[in-house]
Amino acid sequence: MTHNADNSFDSTSDNTFHNNKATSQSGKNPVPPLTQSTVCPLDCADTCSLEVFTEGETVTKVRGGAANPFTRGKLCAKVVNAFPAQVHGDLRIRTPLLRRDSLGGRDFQAISWEQALDIIHERFSQVASEWGSEAIAPLYYGGPMGILAGGSMDRRFFHKLGASLIDASTLCAGTSGHAWDTVFGDAGGIDVAELAEARLIVVWGNNITTCNLHLTTLIRDAQKRGAKLVVIDPKRTRIARDADLHVPLLPGSDVALAYAVTAILDASGDLDEAFIEEHTHGGDQFRSAAKAFDLEHAAGLCGLDAGLIEALADMFRKHRPAAMSIGVAPERNRNGSAGIRAAFSLMAVTGNIGPHGAGICDVSRFFPIDRQRLSRPDLAPENTRTLNVLDIPRYVLDPGDETPIKALFIYNHNPVAVHPQQGRMRDALLSDEVFVVGSDITMTDSMTCADLVLPASTHFEYGDIYKAYGHRYLQRSRPVIPAQGEAVSNMELFRRLAARFGYTEAVFQDSDDAMIHQAFAATDSSIPEKADNRALDMTPYAKPAMLRGGEFTTPSGRIELYSEAMEAHCGQGLPAYLDPPEKRDFVLVTPASELRTNSTFGGIEEQQRDILCEIHSADATAREIKDGEVIELFNERAAVQLTVRISDDVRQGTLYVPKGAWIADSPTGCTVNALLPGHQESAIGGACYYDCAVDIRPPPKG
Ligand code: SF4
Repeated sequence: MTHNADNSFDSTSDNTFHNNKATSQSGKNPVPPLTQSTVCPLDCADTCSLEVFTEGETVTKVRGGAANPFTRGKLCAKVVNAFPAQVHGDLRIRTPLLRRDSLGGRDFQAISWEQALDIIHERFSQVASEWGSEAIAPLYYGGPMGILAGGSMDRRFFHKLGASLIDASTLCAGTSGHAWDTVFGDAGGIDVAELAEARLIVVWGNNITTCNLHLTTLIRDAQKRGAKLVVIDPKRTRIARDADLHVPLLPGSDVALAYAVTAILDASGDLDEAFIEEHTHGGDQFRSAAKAFDLEHAAGLCGLDAGLIEALADMFRKHRPAAMSIGVAPERNRNGSAGIRAAFSLMAVTGNIGPHGAGICDVSRFFPIDRQRLSRPDLAPENTRTLNVLDIPRYVLDPGDETPIKALFIYNHNPVAVHPQQGRMRDALLSDEVFVVGSDITMTDSMTCADLVLPASTHFEYGDIYKAYGHRYLQRSRPVIPAQGEAVSNMELFRRLAARFGYTEAVFQDSDDAMIHQAFAATDSSIPEKADNRALDMTPYAKPAMLRGGEFTTPSGRIELYSEAMEAHCGQGLPAYLDPPEKRDFVLVTPASELRTNSTFGGIEEQQRDILCEIHSADATAREIKDGEVIELFNERAAVQLTVRISDDVRQGTLYVPKGAWIADSPTGCTVNALLPGHQESAIGGACYYDCAVDIRPPPKG
C-alpha cells in the first residue's frame, strides 16, 4: 500500500481500514489523493493486480497494477469505469432494508443492523422449528473471488445452522472439474506459461480476449516463434481471427469432433500407441467408439465442412507438442461432461501429456488452500442434504414429498440474472412461501425480490487473499477505503449472525487475519505475508503436474478414457453424444460479455452497450431483418426483445446475446435467461445454457 506523508494509513491485521488523519469529504481540509494497490476480485481467470486512486473515502479511478507479472498493468474494459460507479453509484445499498408492501408494489425501509439480525434470527428459528433446519438454504455462487469472502465464516455459519448444503458448481466449472477428475483424478495440468514451448496451441471453447485477456499475449508470442494456433469455437472470436485454423462447431458437438479426429488419426496410424499402452485405461474402447464418428457423420453433427475436421487432425499429426486451453463453454450443454472428457482424451491418445509444452492448462495445483479448515464442514449435522443450486426453485415451488425450502439467504450471487429458467427463479423468490434474505453491494434483480436486504462491502473496503484460475500468483489485498454506509464484509456479516444465534465456538470469533493464516498453515504459515500487496509465485508450493511426479488418482491409477465409475453413475463409461433436446430455427448462445463479468456491473448504464443479438447476414437477409432493428426471440418459456447486430462472425442458425444483463434493461420484463431450458447434463446435473432453441419474429406492434 502507498503511504502519503500527510496521512497515516494503517491497514492492520484485522483487515479494517484506518485513516486517522485524513479528513472526510465533508471536513475542512481537502484529502490528498492516494494511489493504493489491490486486486480485481471478479470471477475472471486473470485476477489482475490493480492500482486504485482514492480521495478520502472515494475511489476515483482504477488502472492496472504492476505487481502481477502475468497481468502486467493491463486491465480489461470491464472495470475501469464500472468499479467507481459500483462503489459510489445510486444503486449502492448502504443500510439494512426491510421490504414493506405498498400500493405501488414492493419497496423497502431502512432498519438497523440489530433489527435485521433479530428478524433473521426469528424467521430462521421459526422455519427450523416447523420444518427442520434443512428448510433453510444459502444461495451463493461466484461473487467476489477472495478466499475469505468466497467461503469461510459464511460456510461455518450455515454448517452450524444445519441448513441444506448447496452445490453451486453446477452453474459453471463443476461439469469441467468433474470431467477432469474422471479422466485424470487430481493430477494437475500445466501452467499457462508452458504454452511458450508448445508447437500447437489449441484454444477450445475459451474466448480468451474476453475471459482470459492476458493469455492472448502469451499465445501471440508463441505464434511469432512459429507455434500453430487452432481455435475451436462456434463464433469467430478475436483470437479465432488470428488462428491458423478456426473450427466453428455447433454448440454441444465437441464430443463428436474429438471422436472424429481420434478416428482419423487412428486410421492413419498417427495415435501414440506407446502412450496409450503405458498410461491409459480404456484406450481400445475409446478408439472403438471413435470409429462410429466417421467424417461425414461427425461433420453433420458438428455442422462443419468435413475438410475442417481433417485439417484439425492434420494439425495434431504435424505439430507436437500440443497444449490446450479449454474454457467452460463446452460444458454448457447436455453433452458437457462428454465433450470435455473427449477433448482431454484426444490429448492423451495423441501423447500430448507429459512432455514440456504438452498438456492441458490448469493452475489449481499451485494453490494449497485448506478449504476444510476455512469452512468447517464438521460443524454440520451428519447426513445434511446437498441440493443442486439449479433445483432451488423446485424446492420452493413444488417440493413434493421432500423437505421444502422455506428460507433462503442470497449472497455472492444474483440468481435472477444468472440461472436458467429466470421466470421460475423469480417466482420462487417472490413466493409468499419463502423468507428471503439477501446481501449485496447494489440493488440487483435478486435483491429486489428479497424480504430483507443487507449492505455488503465492495472488495475495496476489506482485505482478502486471492488465488487465480488463469495464472500461478497469489495476492493479498488490504482495504483502500472505509466501509461505505453500514456495509460489512461477508466475514463480518456471518460473525454477527453467529453471535446473534448464540454460537459460542471459537471458530466464530476468528479474525480475517486468523482465517487467512489458517488457509495456508498446513503448507507454510508465512505465505500470507509473502503475498501481501504483491504477487507471490506459488511454484515452490505446487503439486507436481501429471506424468511429472503427479499421480493419477483415478480408480485405475491411469488416464481413464473409459470410466467404470461413470458407467455406474450415468451410463457413460465412454463419452456419449446426445442430440439436442429441443429444435427450433436457432440455437441461442449466451457467452461472456466484454463489459460485465457474469451479472456484475449490470445496472451500470455504460456497461450495457453490448446487450444486442448477433445474427448471421444470411439469416437476417432471409427474414428481411436489418441491422439495428428490434426482434423478438421466443420459445415456450418466454419472449425477449433485442436490437439486432448483423455479423458474419456467428454461425448461421446461431444467435449470440452476451450474458449478465439485468431485467431493467429489457422492455419485455425478463432477460435471455428466461428463454434458457431447465434440463441438466447427466454427470453432475450441470446447467445446459447452450441447449436453448428459439425462434424469432418482429416484436408485437404498440
Ligand atoms: S475482469 Fe479479469 S481482466 Fe478485467 S480487471 Fe478483473 S481480473 Fe483483470
